[in-house]
Amino acid sequence: MTIEEAQRTVDDWIRTYGVRYFSELTNMTVLMEEVGELARVMARKYGDQSFKPGEKDNLADEMADVLWVLLCLANQTGTDLTEAFRRNLEKKTSRDKDRHKNNPKL
Ligand SMILES: [Mg+2]
Repeated sequence: MTIEEAQRTVDDWIRTYGVRYFSELTNMTVLMEEVGELARVMARKYGDQSFKPGEKDNLADEMADVLWVLLCLANQTGTDLTEAFRRNLEKKTSRDKDRHKNNPKL
């Protein structure tokens, strides 16, 4: 699935099952909530915390939750994430092409 297809899939789902998008600010809050859920799994899986009884390692699902809300926000704000990602990659490459190679800490 391409990023464009993912944006279209989310839009189709929202129109079919979601009635309408939550407002942009609500979805921004939901994005923070989902990032927090992802952070909780990371802290337990890779950090010093352990899973509580009943909790499970659902790292991939939490990442998908974050992606879902981000795709919603992109659709709501008229953002073409395919183009945005391409431009962002160009920016990172021109800015950082030697930076990390020259970092003695890496
Ligand atoms: Mg979640």
